[in-house]
Amino acid sequence: MESARSSDWFEQFRSIILAYNEKRQPDPFMKWFQQKETQGFFGGDTEKVLAILIDARFDQMTTAEKALANTKLVVQAGCLKGITDPNVVPLLIPRQYFSAEEWTKSFITALPSLRSISNRIVAQKTWRADELCSLMLHKIRAPYLGVKTTRLAIRWLYELMPTLNINMDSYEIPIDRLVYRVSCRLGLIDPNYDKYAGQGSDADVKIQSVVRGLLPGRQWVVDEPLWSTGRKPMSGGHCYPKSPSCGGCIFGKICPRRFVDFDPAEVGMQAGLTAVRKEAAPVSCGEKRATVTPLQTEFAMYVEQLKQQGISGEEYREKIAQWRREHS
Ligand code: SF4
Repeated sequence: MESARSSDWFEQFRSIILAYNEKRQPDPFMKWFQQKETQGFFGGDTEKVLAILIDARFDQMTTAEKALANTKLVVQAGCLKGITDPNVVPLLIPRQYFSAEEWTKSFITALPSLRSISNRIVAQKTWRADELCSLMLHKIRAPYLGVKTTRLAIRWLYELMPTLNINMDSYEIPIDRLVYRVSCRLGLIDPNYDKYAGQGSDADVKIQSVVRGLLPGRQWVVDEPLWSTGRKPMSGGHCYPKSPSCGGCIFGKICPRRFVDFDPAEVGMQAGLTAVRKEAAPVSCGEKRATVTPLQTEFAMYVEQLKQQGISGEEYREKIAQWRREHS
């Protein structure tokens, strides 16, 4: 379908993406990190990488400000310095669906793996984005460091750590329901044919290809304008599941407004979590997976947690959809 879009259309699309990024506020974490860096706060590259991983992991189902508040708490508690006593970690601000106690415990559990990842990254120094992705998602798993947070961490590593040599050519944007929906409305994919079922599926290959062609080596720049357009009205979005509010949308001038009578994500995104990969399809994080992946185990635990809480019906579906968005 994207062949139907002219090069002039893509040029306008690129201009909109770049204009969006010029106006956007810098991440609070990036500002904090750069300030600390100037003050000589960090005790070396491993501490810097660990701080990045910690904040990226906190930055899920919450605001960037709350994530940073948690990062500051654990940094103050000495977590960058290799503390081993979990009792020194203060109670953290919870993310959605977690109590403060659960989220704190989860961080303590994840910290050794985050440290191992940091050591590994600093030891090698030269990386490709897909290698980093594979390291964090498959080789050393830290609980709740999922696809979205991993990719955020990779972007920050690239932008904040000049001592690392990271080639971003293989960077891929996370495809969630918001990105999928807006891509359909923009005519980049067709939900009837371009199904999304994880990395390497038809929709994933098409979207990543468009993004790579649009801003080669800077693919991450395309991510936020897409997902932020697909958010709820209360969060400043426009492209709702049905009947989008096109007035004020950044893509208003170029959007063909396809599939506006239904939610394309309902049609084109795989209901299950199991990624259907084509045997020969190129995938950037292509470790061979076990029959049951850590992500599937995590999902099963989450479902069990919802059951124990007696959550069902619409609320259950909404929570599952949110979980999938976070981990897709
Ligand atoms: S113009 Fe309308 S249909 Fe197109 S992306 Fe924006 S809100 Fe969605």
